[in-house]
Amino acid sequence: MKNWAGNLGYRAARTEHPSTVAELQALIGAASSVKALGSRHCFNTIADTAGTHVVLDKLADEPEIKAAAGTVRVAGGLSYGVVGAYLQERGYALANLASLPHISVAGAVQTGTHGSGVGNASLAAAVRAVELVRASGEAVRLTADDGGEFRAAVVGLGALGVITHLDLAIEPTYAVRQQVYVRLPWERVLADFDAVASDGYSVSLFTDYTGDAVAQVWRKVRDDTPGAERRADFHGAPAATAAMHPLPGMSADNCTAQLDVPGPWLDRLPHFRLEFTPSNGAELQTEYLLPRGHAAAALRELRALAPVLAPKLLVSEVRTVAADDFWLSPSFGRDSVALHLTWKPLQPQVEAVLPLIEERLAAFGARPHWGKLFAADAAALRPLYPGFDDFRDLAAKHDPTGKFRNPFLDRVLYGA
Ligand SMILES: Cc1cc2nc3c(=O)[nH]c(=O)nc-3n(C[C@H](O)[C@H](O)[C@H](O)COP(=O)(O)OP(=O)(O)OC[C@H]3O[C@@H](n4cnc5c(N)ncnc54)[C@H](O)[C@@H]3O)c2cc1C
Repeated sequence: MKNWAGNLGYRAARTEHPSTVAELQALIGAASSVKALGSRHCFNTIADTAGTHVVLDKLADEPEIKAAAGTVRVAGGLSYGVVGAYLQERGYALANLASLPHISVAGAVQTGTHGSGVGNASLAAAVRAVELVRASGEAVRLTADDGGEFRAAVVGLGALGVITHLDLAIEPTYAVRQQVYVRLPWERVLADFDAVASDGYSVSLFTDYTGDAVAQVWRKVRDDTPGAERRADFHGAPAATAAMHPLPGMSADNCTAQLDVPGPWLDRLPHFRLEFTPSNGAELQTEYLLPRGHAAAALRELRALAPVLAPKLLVSEVRTVAADDFWLSPSFGRDSVALHLTWKPLQPQVEAVLPLIEERLAAFGARPHWGKLFAADAAALRPLYPGFDDFRDLAAKHDPTGKFRNPFLDRVLYGA
């Protein structure tokens, strides 16, 4: 079986589809090497195993809204698209979504997946409880009251157990307007990045780092916000007059509705519609998160690298992510800017340029997205995460024989 991008084939000897938590417990307890597989949207081998893949498509019980607690309990293998539709039908919403609704909830939070917005933390920040099966086969439920155990397990890189269910914070449903603006002058972005990034509920910049202007700005504004309506001009960028795809030359048909038409949160916060292929399809991705205060300096570095980057790029997206407190979250403890690169499917050339990008962004303490392509190993990553050693200690405690380990985790956590 291959991942979504098709750039890697998993080595798993077998794939199991347990239909009860008890079945999953027995399976994990008896296994020597096992890994949960979500919707396969990672670009690296984080989800790979030579042993057993467990896919939770048969453990897909209906979500359960707990109105008094302000949460919904969802099966970890469900996609945000399915959860979103369930909530919307009942008058509820999540605070934010990633660029696509196709990804599984458990797989997304395990890697620190995020959307955009200076006030929006990663999707993991909505998690109020996780129910997971440990390497021993024991099933546990963890909440913030469990302190470090919880803060390690939510963004857990698949190293601390297989998540069967999560409680996510919900709120009353809301409508969002999506507006696209074109040709935002770089000088305005670099002069006051925060003014641009915070001018909307969720703001994304799309660029290839060449030229004097950012090609597109996607601004998503909650309809209940004063001044939500589209403006003629966004910091010097005129409003687009037709729907656009972030990738030049591609049809906007697979994108969520734009042109300031209000619509439900789940149909506007992602860039891509559930029923279509997101993004380009034939692509690779890389992303680095660093403190938002360094945004302009880091963007200057990438602009200086434009001659090297642009020929390999489909597009780059610049977003913001508010701080959270999950030990291995790339936005742990830092209000962040996220510099994302969607590459053409040129893996050797992309991998050759990653060390150069990481060298240029090192001064800013850039942390890679765990689900995308990056070069850093444990020696480079350990100083970036105050909870790194504590996380490894918990992994050793709960998975002493390394059932959930794989060569990816060996590289990024242990340096082997
Ligand atoms: C087109 C596209 C757009 C994207 N857009 C964004 C974006 O906007 N923002 C962003 O931050 N990222 C984005 N990503 C990256 C994506 O969100 C992450 O790769 C995410 O981890 C994918 O979830 P998944 O279910 O496919 O995970 P998988 O690749 O299946 O698994 C990822 C990890 O989670 C573990 N895992 C999966 N299920 C479980 C479980 N039940 N219990 C425990 N561990 C589990 C796996 O073992 C593995 O370690 C995008 C990816 C693509 C392909």
